[in-house]
Amino acid sequence: MREAEPHLKDFSIERLRTRFAADGIEPWRAEQVAGWLYARGVEDPAQWTDVSAALRDRFANAWQRRALEWDAVSVSADGTVKGRLRARDGALIESVMIPEGERNTLCISTQVGCPLACSFCATGALGFTRNLGVAEILDQVCRMREKLAPEQRLTNVVFMGMGEPLLNLPNVIEAVRVLLHPKAFALGPRKITVSTAGVVPKIATLLQSVPVNLAVSLHAPTDAVRDVLVPINRRFPLAVLFEALRALPEVSVRRPIFFEYTLMQGVNDSLDDARRLVRLVRGLPSKLNLIPMNAHADAPYRPPHEADVARFAAVLVGAGLTVTVRRPRGADIDAACGQLAARGARPAA
Ligand code: SAH
Repeated sequence: MREAEPHLKDFSIERLRTRFAADGIEPWRAEQVAGWLYARGVEDPAQWTDVSAALRDRFANAWQRRALEWDAVSVSADGTVKGRLRARDGALIESVMIPEGERNTLCISTQVGCPLACSFCATGALGFTRNLGVAEILDQVCRMREKLAPEQRLTNVVFMGMGEPLLNLPNVIEAVRVLLHPKAFALGPRKITVSTAGVVPKIATLLQSVPVNLAVSLHAPTDAVRDVLVPINRRFPLAVLFEALRALPEVSVRRPIFFEYTLMQGVNDSLDDARRLVRLVRGLPSKLNLIPMNAHADAPYRPPHEADVARFAAVLVGAGLTVTVRRPRGADIDAACGQLAARGARPAA
């Protein structure tokens, strides 16, 4: 198969209709194809029984339908599954499925590596290789869903894997449209969360384009510390970030902003930090997600003491904020937050 062939998973259903029309295929076939590829997870056109034989051949010969292959899979003692997936150029991409009762949350990647170089993040230490295409974003969902038991359902998708989603925004938006589409993955809007380290000029565009939850990786309540942890803060410091967040018309008590705050011992976990954090988010509908630092070889930071996590959380709760402490899931297989670092983007064979 030639690389130049178009990929069925590179298009939202809306854009696939347009493309089909231009190619002389009935536009409504786009919904039919989405049903097979995404709702049913069948990639071989030979099995698309409600499509004419001529068109099945055409999809089989002139279109690509699969972007990622399995490279490795690891299963944590807590049930978390990490998949390492291989793109056609050999790039390795990691995704994590996190089961929690009835809920199955999939954490997906948007870039190979990441250019933002956050000093505590394993992906940041890899450097940046390239953006993922729409098909590569969606195929993480297709592949990882194969690991769910028949009675399990994918309920949530979070763009919190490798890479910065807002630096690959057109492809992220296109993929979100497929996740939402009733004939494709049919996820509810509140079931998808896109996380950013603070690419401020792109935030409004994201929320205007697709009805997703916004998560912001905060990690420090002062510019001095955030400049070190999240270097993009030097371009978009806290005042600029919060002015933009406060101006978002989509944010409300029913649709709060999720702030992620990775706690690192002696770096950002003091009571003063907690009080500054309260002042920073005051009046902004938000939920705070405290993430104890997951240690890895590429960062000098240590996890906080448990007692400090409790004290930090208590200050926030005392100020009336909604706070959750994220338990490390899949740490035994290096699948926890900040540990994704598929190594060795292998050259294509
Ligand atoms: N680039 C986007 C999407 C990745 S989200 C963003 O930064 O929001 C990945 C989440 O894991 C972020 O909240 C990040 O801060 C957190 N994280 C990164 N390294 C971590 C570590 N070592 N321990 C705990 N959380 C970490």
